[in-house]
Amino acid sequence: MKGLTGKTVLITGASSGIGQAIAIRLAEEGCNIVINYRSDGDGAADTRRQAMEKACKDIEVCGVKALLLQGDISKEEDAVSLVQQSIEHFGHLDILVNNAGVQTDSPSEAIDVDSFDWVLGVNLRGAYLCARETIKHLLAHNRPGSIINISSVHEIIPRPQYLSYSISKGGMGNMTKTLALEYAAQGIRVNGIGPGATVTPINEEWTEDPEKQAEVESHIPMGRAGTSEEMAAAVAFLASDEAAYITGQTLYIDGGLTLYADFQNPWSA
Ligand code: NAD
Repeated sequence: MKGLTGKTVLITGASSGIGQAIAIRLAEEGCNIVINYRSDGDGAADTRRQAMEKACKDIEVCGVKALLLQGDISKEEDAVSLVQQSIEHFGHLDILVNNAGVQTDSPSEAIDVDSFDWVLGVNLRGAYLCARETIKHLLAHNRPGSIINISSVHEIIPRPQYLSYSISKGGMGNMTKTLALEYAAQGIRVNGIGPGATVTPINEEWTEDPEKQAEVESHIPMGRAGTSEEMAAAVAFLASDEAAYITGQTLYIDGGLTLYADFQNPWSA
């Protein structure tokens, strides 16, 4: 896709799932990638191996480079350091993908404050901190840039029993719009994607049980869960110059889940 070759991109939580697929796809598009991980160093190394395999047919002459950086994005010092180290290593940062995310379930009347703070701390505060540091860098060097937030269909669909997750993604949608408006004139585009049910480790509970997976898929108009690669393709598009006039949008990639799926077959007179 246009405009990605030679760009530097930081992907948070890129040792598994959607973040891993995004890192691999952007490397394939010619970006230098910074693979952030919190604790899974082996997963991060696997991301690098797969990315280099895809990006570089001849490793000796390959222009694409990958850097692994450990860091917990919910901690301010880690978020600052991640952006700083990316810039020191590659000379600049052009694209941030706020992918790291966590979830936990509980009836809303029984959520303990630590778990509430944890989910908001990673999904919303951490994403903001990484965005803040990236924007500071872009403004200081008068460079255009792009931020992609990995949100969820739960940016707009309420999710009982997952209140903190639902709030975090709703907030992320507002952050996408607010930052997009605030920095549009400086050439910084801010967009998001809203994945539907996607086969990744966060969903092990149903992806590893064919019966439960069939139940999940029965609610999806297109009749199947999505893949990480399908999410990564949309991120590549939004990050590229093909999307040069798009800002402040969340693109839902969900097999129709946000289309009021219950109305697929007529049920009212
Ligand atoms: P995943 O569990 O494989 O990926 C989440 C990644 O975030 C993991 O690698 C994890 O280590 C990392 N992470 C967690 N806390 C972190 C922290 N404090 N600092 C740095 N990294 C941290 O699951 P996934 O499905 O690939 O999720 C990626 C994103 O996609 C998340 O934001 C999630 O909410 C979103 N999403 C996923 C689905 C789905 O169905 N899989 C649907 C909608 C949205």
